[in-house]
Amino acid sequence: MLSKEIQDALNDQIKNEYFSSYTYLSMAAYCESINMGGFATWMRLQSEEELGHAMRIFDYILNRDGRVVLQSIGKPQTKFKSLKEMFQIVLDHEREVTGMINKLYEQAISESDHATTVELQWFIQEQVEEEKTAQEILDKLKLAGDSGSALLILDTQLSERSSAQ
Ligand code: MG
Repeated sequence: MLSKEIQDALNDQIKNEYFSSYTYLSMAAYCESINMGGFATWMRLQSEEELGHAMRIFDYILNRDGRVVLQSIGKPQTKFKSLKEMFQIVLDHEREVTGMINKLYEQAISESDHATTVELQWFIQEQVEEEKTAQEILDKLKLAGDSGSALLILDTQLSERSSAQ
């Protein structure tokens, strides 16, 4: 059975994953508004992926006979100056999420909740991927600078993402 403290922290993390999803959906809308359809596709799939993370924790709480208590989701940022600024926000956000997962993991270790530590290991590995991908796209955007043709090539590349993984 989950301790009250771990259960509360996991419920918080469901909210955090939903907030990530909401943030990426907001970014998808921005990308559509500047006619960068490939970036928008990528962001829509990223938003879906975050819902998958939330549901993974949702199911885990229930599998451990815990209680899911859904919380209010904050308002995501809705205005962005550029794709480069947007991806800097993505990278900063993913680093923040990594910190949250690490904190949860330390809490599970301190309570000797082995099942939760194993569950969180999946998220720890996932965060390595999330940060790597955000950093790669940000680096490419920095390289592209104000070059319209470079940005259009990048938009085509991102349009090729086909799944929320
Ligand atoms: Mg996530």
